[in-house]
Order: sequence, then C-alpha cells, then structure tokens
Amino acid sequence: MSITVLVVEDEPAIQELISYNLKNSGLTPVCATNAEQAAVMINNILPDLVLLDWMLPNSSGIEFARQLRRNTRTQTIPIIMLTAKVELEDKISGLEAGADDYITKPFSPRELIARIKAVLRRRVPEISDEIIEAGGLKIDPTQHRVFAFLDNNPSEPTEVKLGPTEFRLLHFLMAHKERVYTRTQLLDRIWGDHVFIEDRTVDVHIRRLRKVLEKIGKDDLVQTVRGTGYRFSSEYDASAEDRQL
Ligand code: CA
Repeated sequence: MSITVLVVEDEPAIQELISYNLKNSGLTPVCATNAEQAAVMINNILPDLVLLDWMLPNSSGIEFARQLRRNTRTQTIPIIMLTAKVELEDKISGLEAGADDYITKPFSPRELIARIKAVLRRRVPEISDEIIEAGGLKIDPTQHRVFAFLDNNPSEPTEVKLGPTEFRLLHFLMAHKERVYTRTQLLDRIWGDHVFIEDRTVDVHIRRLRKVLEKIGKDDLVQTVRGTGYRFSSEYDASAEDRQL
C-alpha cells in the first residue's frame, strides 16, 4: 500500500530535495508551501504523516500542528517538525503542540527517511492492517484483536487477550512468519529506534506472549532459534533445541 507524506515547506529547494528522497524510498509525497494550502490538502486526503516546517509564511508550523491536534479527524496524524531551531524551549513547545519528532536543518536525507520510518512504525502499526491467519491464530490489526481456533471448538474462535507489546510482537512475527529475527531487529522494528532498551526486554515479552499462548496449547508457534533469535512458525519444528528443554 502507498504511504503518503504531506510535506509543508515554503522553500522550493528543500521541498524538492525531500520530495525526491521520499519517492526514492517508496513513499508518496504531496507538497504544500504554507499551512492554508496544507489544510486544504488534508481536507481532501488524510496523509499518513505530516512533515512540517517550523517557519512558514503567515501561520507558523507550530500553530498548524496545534490545529491538527485539535481536530478529531487529524489528531492522530504523526507529525515531524523540520526546524532550524535547536533550543530546548522550542523543542518543548513543539512537543506540547503535538509533534512526534524533530529534524534539525540541515539534515541528511538518510536521517530524514530513517526518522520518518521510525515514527510510522511507532505510531502507525495499522499501516498494514490486513488480517493474518496462521497456525490456528487469527490477528486483526484494525480491531487489535487476536483469535484462536481450538480443536475442541473450531467453528467459534476464542479471543486471546494480549498486552500491547505482545500484540505488536505477535503481529510482526506473524506478518513475517517462518523468518528468524534477532533481538536487535525486533527491537528496531517493534519498539522503534528512538528507544534505548536492552535486548533482554525482547525475551521478557516473548516469555509473556508464550505464557498466554501456552494456555491454549499454541506456545510452540513462537520458536526460539538458538544463537539467532525468534520466529513464528506454524510448522512444528522437532529439531528446535529449546523445545526439548
Ligand atoms: Ca521555512
């Protein structure tokens, strides 16, 4: 699916640079040169993320961010502010206005894209909102619910209650089933790269997830691959060493 980023920037050269790099990364840019124009565009199509310059003609980026947060339709859109300002006070007023992140000018295109992707991962997990079924589990990202089809009652799925992190973990693993992910990869993909937490945190949440799945006899779907990491597999893996422990 296409991910749309609304770029609100009054300097044509910067707008062009951003636009070019977004396209190169598979994102779809739409551009506005001021807040009024951006408001009209948002009215038409809700973007997945807004990249918002702090210094805009007429109304400032901060004021526009506040407007977006006040409106029910736009209040959850992720916002990244582009700013030449680096002072702490500015950061605080930006955060209060509802920005998710900051990029200070001048920035490298790589950093820009990495920040955008990190915010999208953190704030828009529903970006892939298709229902996934595997190993007798069904995960519905839109409803944020998990169901299990149990042998004793296959026609009526039982809801499986998970904590938010366990949900994201299961969703990620099911979306990439049969593939092995290291703890570091899981941290980056599920927790985002702005958090500084230890690899062990992943183990803790894997344990919690397995504990819930154990109650319905499905804990062996989440497999440890010794020395590497974890995977979701609906094929029973008799050779998995940790299963024998
Ligand atoms: Ca500007």
